[in-house]
Amino acid sequence: MIVDTVTGIFVNGKWKTSNHGKTFEVNNPATLEKIAELPYGGGEETREAIDAAKAAFPAWSELTGRERSTYLYNAYHLMQERKEKLARLLTEEQGKPLKEARGEIEFAASFLLWYAEEASRIYGEMVPATKRNKRLWVVPKPIGVVAAITPWNFPAAMVTRKVAPALAAGCTVVLKPAELTPLSAIEIVKIFEDAGLPKGVLNMVAGNPEEIGEALMESKDVRLVTFTGSTEVGKLLIEGSAKTVKKLSLELGGHAPFLVFEDADLNLAAEQALASKYRNCGQTCICTNRIYVQSAVKEEFTRILEEKVSKLKIGNGQEEDVDIGPLINESGLKKVKDQVEDALSKGADLYTGGSQWSGENGYYYEPTILANVTEEMKIMSQETFGPVVPVMAFENEEEVISKANDTDYGLAAFLFTNDLNRAITIMEKLDYGIIGINDVFPGTAEAPFGGIKESGMGKEGGHEGIQEFVEMKYVSIGLQNGKQ
Ligand code: NAP
Repeated sequence: MIVDTVTGIFVNGKWKTSNHGKTFEVNNPATLEKIAELPYGGGEETREAIDAAKAAFPAWSELTGRERSTYLYNAYHLMQERKEKLARLLTEEQGKPLKEARGEIEFAASFLLWYAEEASRIYGEMVPATKRNKRLWVVPKPIGVVAAITPWNFPAAMVTRKVAPALAAGCTVVLKPAELTPLSAIEIVKIFEDAGLPKGVLNMVAGNPEEIGEALMESKDVRLVTFTGSTEVGKLLIEGSAKTVKKLSLELGGHAPFLVFEDADLNLAAEQALASKYRNCGQTCICTNRIYVQSAVKEEFTRILEEKVSKLKIGNGQEEDVDIGPLINESGLKKVKDQVEDALSKGADLYTGGSQWSGENGYYYEPTILANVTEEMKIMSQETFGPVVPVMAFENEEEVISKANDTDYGLAAFLFTNDLNRAITIMEKLDYGIIGINDVFPGTAEAPFGGIKESGMGKEGGHEGIQEFVEMKYVSIGLQNGKQ
């Protein structure tokens, strides 16, 4: 056990316990051992956190972008110094292999650096007026108190991807991390504390999701909710936001298609399918949910993929050579089993895998490939969030575009081809917010990440990411001494 944290409630610069003395456990999904017991925050603590963020807002928002960026640079350097400890903690609470956890900490730190740089580049506009005696300005201002709600699958990167642009823009924050993985978020808040962030600028309440959610949505002081999580909870927040007309930025679920054309580099496609499907045990919002391969190369592609899958090592992510860790919890495992059983009972075939892995105590499932999957099987409409993928054949471009777009989700899609014309044409016809062409790693701090349709609204990353936290004030000036 490497956890020395005692609380996940941080209000107005102070760590505190819950007002009612309730606690909750954090468990390691690789061993099922308890690794921490934390105070269970609720509505009351959330209201205190909102009050602290509201009180801190005027002074924080009056700083220049350059002044605010100093804190983000400090936090970036501290995160770099602590990266090994953070990576080990991340693996302990979330289960992903250590090499992936190290990658996530680098990714998390990159948002601190990027938004430290962007803080002094939030521009307004001077609009040329049609009347000579008018001057028209569009002036950016920070939106106010922001609620940031984060998921368990990227417990560090989803926190910095929200907190860094919010702080850079001049907003103050109430952070609610996932109940399953609050420890990484706590360490990140400690980093900001050590970076000298003024009290009340960043607050956190770990605990009861319904109570915290309700307090955030009811509050007139919270002007934006930035959320990453399931489409189901995203829809609840959309309903809740109506009460006080809050702005929302939503990064929701996905059902990514992965298209392989007959001219593609099949080895590269299989290598990237492996990375896209099985990293984080398939628990990534943009991870491949279904693979479509042009019929002439389907058998060869599947053979290469299967060979690569057979070399993956399952186990506790703390071991350096492990490729696949456990699923996050019992219900994650149950969902995966249910999708595989449903597909097999309706006539799908199993290429490889298909069972729970019992080499250790945790929630493990074998990397699995299914074939002969049809549209009515659950795996074709539900997000899988596990190490299972169906491989299907297609004949032509029209057919595969229609199949790829036949979903309520619109987060990410991937295509593999060496034909430039084909790549551009297909990319333009895919209804997704993110397209990877011969590339399954589109996520990066400098580019706008976000879905369309039921995968959400708004962008994170890039210069677009900071705009979510900014409102434009329009100013019209009449000159008394000028001609009309
Ligand atoms: P989730 O169940 O929707 O939870 C996300 C967050 O919302 C957690 O902090 C959760 O708290 C909180 N929450 C739950 N009920 C709430 C309520 N009534 N009011 C306010 N907050 C509430 O999602 P998850 O299972 O943690 O994460 C997996 C999902 O996230 C997947 O669908 C995945 O695709 C999506 N995701 C999307 C992106 C993207 O960029 N588009 C990135 C990563 C993940 P508790 O943990 O305490 O329940």
